[in-house]
Amino acid sequence: MKKAFKAHSMIHATFVVSASRTRGVHRIVSWGVNHIAEGGRSIHSEVDALRGLRCRGRERLVLLNARISRTGVVNMSRPCPNCARWISCRPHIIRISWTDQDHAITSKPSDLFQKTTVMKNML
Ligand SMILES: [Zn+2]
Repeated sequence: MKKAFKAHSMIHATFVVSASRTRGVHRIVSWGVNHIAEGGRSIHSEVDALRGLRCRGRERLVLLNARISRTGVVNMSRPCPNCARWISCRPHIIRISWTDQDHAITSKPSDLFQKTTVMKNML
C-alpha cells in the first residue's frame, strides 16, 4: 500500500536517513506517519517507518521525527518508550533526532537516547 500524508490536524512523521557515504548521505531510506490501521489500532510513525526498513551491510542511519501542526507549528515528537524499544532493535540506527517543545530539533546518539528514555520511564 502506498503511504501518503493525509489532511489531519497535524503530521507526525518519521524519516530514516542514511548517514553512510557509500549509499549517499542524507538519502531517505524509509519513512512513516502516525495513522490508524484497519481494526482501529494506532500505528506510530516510528513503527511505520521501521517496518519498511531494509538495512544493508554496515549502513548507518539517523531517525528523524517531526511533528507539525496544520498551521505549520513544529511541536514535540520524541519517540515514546514503546517506539524506543523498536528502535533499540535496529543497531543500524546510530542517532535519533526529534522536533521539540521549543520548536527546535533535539538530537542524541542512539545509546544516549535509550538511556534517557529508560530513566524517564522510571520516574
Ligand atoms: Zn511511539
